[in-house]
Amino acid sequence: MSDPKAGDHSAESSLPSNFLRGIIERDLAAGVYDGRRFGGGPGDAAHHEAGGADPARVRLRFPPEPNGYLHIGHAKSICLNFGLARDYGGVCHLRFDDTNPEKEEQEYVDAIEEMVRWLGWDWDALGSSHLYFASNYFDFMYRAAEHLIEQGLAYVDEQPADAMRANRGDFSTPGTNSPFRGRTVAENLSRFREMRDGQHADGSMVLRAKIDMASPNINLRDPAIYRIRRATHHNTGDAWCIYPMYTYAHPIEDALERITHSICTLEFADQRPFYDWLLERLAEGGLLAHPLPKQYEFGRLNLSYVITSKRKLKQLVDERHVEGWDDPRMPTLAGMRRRGYTPSAIRKMADDSGASKTNIWLDYSVLDIAQRDDLDPQVARAMAVIDPLPLKLTNWPDVFGSAEHREPCQAPVHPHHPERGHRDFSLGPVLWIERDDFAEAPPKGFFRLFPGNKVRLKYGVVVECTGCEKDAAGRITAVTATVVPDTKSGTPGADAVKVKGVITWVGAHDAVATELRLFDRLFTEAQPDAGGRDYLTVLNPASKRVARGYVEPSLSSAEAETRVQFERHGYFITDRVDHRAGAPVFNRITGLKDNWAK
Ligand code: ATP
Ligand code: MG
Repeated sequence: MSDPKAGDHSAESSLPSNFLRGIIERDLAAGVYDGRRFGGGPGDAAHHEAGGADPARVRLRFPPEPNGYLHIGHAKSICLNFGLARDYGGVCHLRFDDTNPEKEEQEYVDAIEEMVRWLGWDWDALGSSHLYFASNYFDFMYRAAEHLIEQGLAYVDEQPADAMRANRGDFSTPGTNSPFRGRTVAENLSRFREMRDGQHADGSMVLRAKIDMASPNINLRDPAIYRIRRATHHNTGDAWCIYPMYTYAHPIEDALERITHSICTLEFADQRPFYDWLLERLAEGGLLAHPLPKQYEFGRLNLSYVITSKRKLKQLVDERHVEGWDDPRMPTLAGMRRRGYTPSAIRKMADDSGASKTNIWLDYSVLDIAQRDDLDPQVARAMAVIDPLPLKLTNWPDVFGSAEHREPCQAPVHPHHPERGHRDFSLGPVLWIERDDFAEAPPKGFFRLFPGNKVRLKYGVVVECTGCEKDAAGRITAVTATVVPDTKSGTPGADAVKVKGVITWVGAHDAVATELRLFDRLFTEAQPDAGGRDYLTVLNPASKRVARGYVEPSLSSAEAETRVQFERHGYFITDRVDHRAGAPVFNRITGLKDNWAK
């Protein structure tokens, strides 16, 4: 971890405050977790009691379901959990919540690990690795379910699904007891074992916790905790045909791992009473050790012009609205990395957005500004021409003695860091300039090239425009100009000729032909899926443009994932997938100015 505060608990009182920090500080001050034991890995009460004192002051977890790629919303949760663990002398587990056999794949597991690391976090801490898979707890979950049955706290319900739904009631109507609710322990136990042994069809029955069908909290009206589902699981294969429900599995996962603070998003607030009910019953039965984890909820992070739902992002990929999970327009961490966003800018945005008890919408410009602030002091400068037009300097041989002469030029690698040296390139008789730096009939206030006007070629000489060449269709094919002698930048008297415009350029003789991928927002609406709108109807048809341009020779051997600021154009990165030294490909990360705010 790159943060200088790592491991420094004395800084606790100076940390920016949020309600989660308040809770952890209160718990630590009250000694809630003093004397806690840890068995060196996940396990039941006996396992942890046989272990030594837990070296972690607190334990948190980031628990993604491996059913898609991580997105910017997950980055918020990752930075929050790993950050709290770091700041309070704790550990954060990376736990794959892989209890649902249907949609989970190894590809997603690998991509999630890679992205958590890329963001700068690590689950190896205090001498061991804390990478866990919830599916490794299936045996315990099954045993816990039998325990609930034995205690009269769970029953097998064979009502059809629609009857079960109708009998659950709603906010104003209490539920109705299932006709199967009064079964004996022995009957429930044998039925549940039959479920496990594959004697019943998928969906024909479920195991339910027996709590209170009249509870004002619908989640306590005998929630289903196990279902029958014949599906091959990515980790356990065909060992099981029954799978635990999320609401049952998640608290158990936390408790087995000795999590202290289980932080989730607001929509789980109504599940908290069941979370506590379940863990307390299992602790009473001696299956789980005290102190039990506690759940806390914070508001989701949403970004304007972005969708943060794995399911919806998967649809964009599957239906080829984008070119994969790592398409640079995607708000996935894989896409943002390819686009050129830096982990530190993403972490900064996550930290600055704090933790609150309401869902928040951040304007995308917040991330963009964090990104520019991060890049500006670091990245090298260079010149690029995105929409090229030749500029012919017609008096070149007269001024420099021969058409073959090349006039060397220099520019700083970074304007504020002279110690980083300079870039070399040269002027010649034909250069590439931006098409829109020339106007045959200049609009008011246009100071660049038009017949009769003088401009400076940045780091080069002053030229005076004499006209342009056109093809048969009347399209401009070249601009012509003459060099104004004795105006070379950095030479005595160079400033004697005053000009109002300075333009960027590259030499036709030494520039490197390149592909430049220019991205705009993926959606035309700030809240693409608000109010249940079909977000596909607001896809921006112009979210990607591919330009063929030129970059200065200092970039001829740039490696993949090299970031640079092209003067006047913004920040770019060489594409991590398609870039080759001889055939460069640049992605625009962001412009020089904010173009996201409304
Ligand atoms: P999705 O709907 O995209 O699948 P999820 O919440 O179902 O999101 P999980 O893989 O279950 O995805 O999420 C892992 C963790 O990330 C959870 O603790 C979840 O609360 C958190 N998380 C997901 N999206 C956001 C978000 N937009 N802001 C903050 N935390 C989030
Ligand atoms: Mg989920």
